[in-house]
Amino acid sequence: MLEKERVKEYVDYCLNCKVKPCSEKGCPLSNDIPTFIQAVKEGDIKKAYQILLNTTMLGAVCGRICPHEKQCQGSCVRGIKGDPVNIGELEAYVFDVALKNGYYKEIIKTDELKGKKIAVIGSGPASLNCSAFLARVGANVTIYEKMEDLGGILRYGIPDFRLPKTILDDTIQQILSLGIKVKTNLKLRSNIELETLCNEYDVVFLGIGANIPGKMNILGEELNGVYGGNSLLENGNHPDYTGKKVAVIGGGNVAMDCARTIKRLGADEVNIIYRRAEKQMPAEKKEIEEAKKEGINFLFQNNIVQIIGSEKVEKIECIKTELVKKEGEDREVPVDIENSNYFIDIDYVVMAVGSNPDREVVDKLGLELNQNGYIKVDENYKTSHPKVYAGGDLIGQKATVAWAAYSGREAAKAIIQNLK
Ligand code: SF4
Repeated sequence: MLEKERVKEYVDYCLNCKVKPCSEKGCPLSNDIPTFIQAVKEGDIKKAYQILLNTTMLGAVCGRICPHEKQCQGSCVRGIKGDPVNIGELEAYVFDVALKNGYYKEIIKTDELKGKKIAVIGSGPASLNCSAFLARVGANVTIYEKMEDLGGILRYGIPDFRLPKTILDDTIQQILSLGIKVKTNLKLRSNIELETLCNEYDVVFLGIGANIPGKMNILGEELNGVYGGNSLLENGNHPDYTGKKVAVIGGGNVAMDCARTIKRLGADEVNIIYRRAEKQMPAEKKEIEEAKKEGINFLFQNNIVQIIGSEKVEKIECIKTELVKKEGEDREVPVDIENSNYFIDIDYVVMAVGSNPDREVVDKLGLELNQNGYIKVDENYKTSHPKVYAGGDLIGQKATVAWAAYSGREAAKAIIQNLK
């Protein structure tokens, strides 16, 4: 937990701006940042927690893993001439104190949705926030989860060194204490059917994420030793990396998480191959810096062309790229440099190039999809089925934890309006 001296230093640095760009422009959840910081300044952590509870129940998680530099801290007035206020660490601190002291036991519940039954499918950030905001108004919420434990991407997609499992467990405990029921080891379309749930419940919220690893459709992608980044993190089924050379393809946080995990598991050399420049990397700056410190090599402006091997991966062919400003594009795009191809000996390749919904499930739910193959929702997160809402990565919005939590909360608000 953040030390007291640090907390004081951070809160004293906040200008308590009247206009709140950190909250209104930066934070997807619109957390009231200056007001909670002011409460911390006054030494009233319970009050700070209650202020944050108006918009989120995932502060201990978001405070640690959100891309703050692109969200709240990226809009902080202090950041114009120097460093922004360290909002993420302060948010995590408030929740850490609250969870440790059980402040959540004092959350006041209302009975607006008393007697209403709601099924929430999946237990990632969208589902957890949705369940919490519904339970807080008295709904009878049951979470269905395909895995043994709750948390979805937070448990199975984010390594412990970024989000300790104890913090996640405490966060979930806080939410379940609102009276939410849980049914695990039940997967939609395998052990439970949407239509059955619709008959049993007043509303069903779908938050099953999109965690099937994307492919590049290059030669050799089917060889042994090629892994999807998401599945590798999710199932933890790693090969023995001792003395091995690994290439991780991609530039997002999943690529960083994979590379750092693999290095910690003993790989000799881990190379992140990214076709754009460092400044264009979607991964958070602090994750890139940590990866560099841990000895990960970065091959910026390089692209993979093919994976070579007879049965298993033996080498990869890469090509260098240059960034070109093209008409109609708002940022420079990478273009392969002719005859710059080269080969690297590699034992394993990890594809961290995005993820997609599980087609086996999503295509068979009988719900309308949008043009990108995600579940189509209206402005109230309602799907084409009148009893079914959806949120998070499943609806193809910006794939960050805070945006998922936002969609869960907003869907809960719409469900409350609908059921009242
Ligand atoms: Fe504090 Fe920065 Fe928000 Fe201003 S913009 S209130 S300085 S956190």
